[in-house]
Amino acid sequence: MVVGLKDQLKLLINLQELDIHILKKQSIINEIPLNISGVETRLKKILTNLDKIKQGLESLEKKKRDKERTLDDINGKITKLKTRTTEIKTNKEYQAHLKEIESVEKECYAVEDEILLLMEETEASLKELKLREETIRSEKSKVAEFKKKLEAEVLEAEKELLALNEARSEIVRSIEEELYNLYMNLIKSGKGLAVVEAKEEICLGCNMNFPPQLFVELKKNEEIIKCPQCHRIIYYKSE
Ligand SMILES: [Zn+2]
Repeated sequence: MVVGLKDQLKLLINLQELDIHILKKQSIINEIPLNISGVETRLKKILTNLDKIKQGLESLEKKKRDKERTLDDINGKITKLKTRTTEIKTNKEYQAHLKEIESVEKECYAVEDEILLLMEETEASLKELKLREETIRSEKSKVAEFKKKLEAEVLEAEKELLALNEARSEIVRSIEEELYNLYMNLIKSGKGLAVVEAKEEICLGCNMNFPPQLFVELKKNEEIIKCPQCHRIIYYKSE
């Protein structure tokens, strides 16, 4: 492939440098929404955990209310039993009566213990809730700050991209059409790399050696020379 002219090769090298910058900027811009949705997902997960703790607390409260109702019933029973004490005639009846009161009172203590346990659980849960809420507050402000920073980065990157694209158009205008088409085809087939440096008889695009004779030609930088292996345009950078 002989199109010749050092200037055209120089332009292609510049264009490739620009295109590398443009691709990098573009990928930064593309990644930002993913980063934002990543931190938002994390926040959502924390919020879900918080809801679970709140639900746990509600169920503890309900259990406590139920136990308190049971306790009221038991206390009612005890009062009723005690009012009957005066009606008792025989000693045997009296002994049985005392035993009954004792057994109901035992029930009462058991329920009271259960309520105490529930209250302890509730207290621990509330502590946990408070801790989580603090985490969420700080996490939320971190996310907001992160988003703000990323959005500013997008704006900046888009501005830079615009300038890069303008510079690109400027260069493209001076490149021969046929050569530009070749370049663009190589960009597509070469994963964004169409023009690569060759160092010590090695193409830096595919890392393959090529014949020394080709390297001699290459050093002149007077023609458009393609790597025999990856077909990218290669050039020699003089020290
Ligand atoms: Zn190559």
